[in-house]
Amino acid sequence: MLFAGEDGIGKKLFALEIARALNCRSPQGAEGCGNCPSCVRIGKFNYPQSSESDDWKGIIWTDHADVGMVVAPKRVLLVEQMRLIEREANYRPYEGNARVFLIEDADKLNDPSANALLKVLEEPPHTSHIVLLTSRPAMLLPTIRSRCQMIRFSPLSPEEIESHLVKNNVASAGEARIRARVARGSLGRAVAQDFDGFSAQRAAMLRVLQVLSVDEDRLQLLRSAEELNEAKYKDEYESRLDILETLIRDAWMMSLHAPDESVVNQDLLSQLKKISAGLDGRRPAGWISQIEEMREQLIVNINRKAATDALFLTMAAAAPPLEKRRFVP
Ligand SMILES: [Zn+2]
Repeated sequence: MLFAGEDGIGKKLFALEIARALNCRSPQGAEGCGNCPSCVRIGKFNYPQSSESDDWKGIIWTDHADVGMVVAPKRVLLVEQMRLIEREANYRPYEGNARVFLIEDADKLNDPSANALLKVLEEPPHTSHIVLLTSRPAMLLPTIRSRCQMIRFSPLSPEEIESHLVKNNVASAGEARIRARVARGSLGRAVAQDFDGFSAQRAAMLRVLQVLSVDEDRLQLLRSAEELNEAKYKDEYESRLDILETLIRDAWMMSLHAPDESVVNQDLLSQLKKISAGLDGRRPAGWISQIEEMREQLIVNINRKAATDALFLTMAAAAPPLEKRRFVP
């Protein structure tokens, strides 16, 4: 199966519920009971203690001997990990009725590892189930997608997330409003968010957007690219790009005179208004596809620093025609 939907939306939890339903010792209808030893152990992953990528190359088992997961040790899922899944999937269950293997961020399969997975995806033993999880299903090879049953997880509405955050005292009303809107339908993302950290990242990305659309100061732009690549922000790289994309989207909506409520970053309305005032409506679409293109290329291991510089300069390049402004690393 292929579960597609935003990060933090519950794909992994749902896959684990399926594993419970299949292995529960006292099932409640079609569902696992959640309380028997089998159900409880299925929720407990034995993650490696260190962050050494070598330690992440195996299957990360839960406390249940038939349920495990693989994650990309670095930027890609490895051939050896897919071979491990194939080997394990061919064993009969040790203690339950079914073996279940999750592949997290399946979009991190490259051609060799995707091909290594094809065989077992094609004809898995009937007691083994493989669930691919991804927020970017379009990046999977068609050969993988066609062998899976795809289930799409739709995003939660901002109102649902907002009320959860307030009800569970995760955030004050004002903060919950913004967090719910930048979470793009993902409750997990909204709950896990470090709001102060987020605000600092967003301020930096707003500067980038200001330079791109108003100031057109290349030097400042390269400084921002440099900041994005600073070692201390290494773990924030992806989330900063996410934030930049929401800001671009907001400015785009405003340049199209969409109602203020459709803007994600509600507390930045006045700044966004200034940015969108002189914005050529064709540019934001180009920016977003340039960012997405670079993200795809990062997976095949290009130099991130050079790629970021190139991306920002491509984005800053003079207005349309769009088709001539594709991102070149
Ligand atoms: Zn149970």
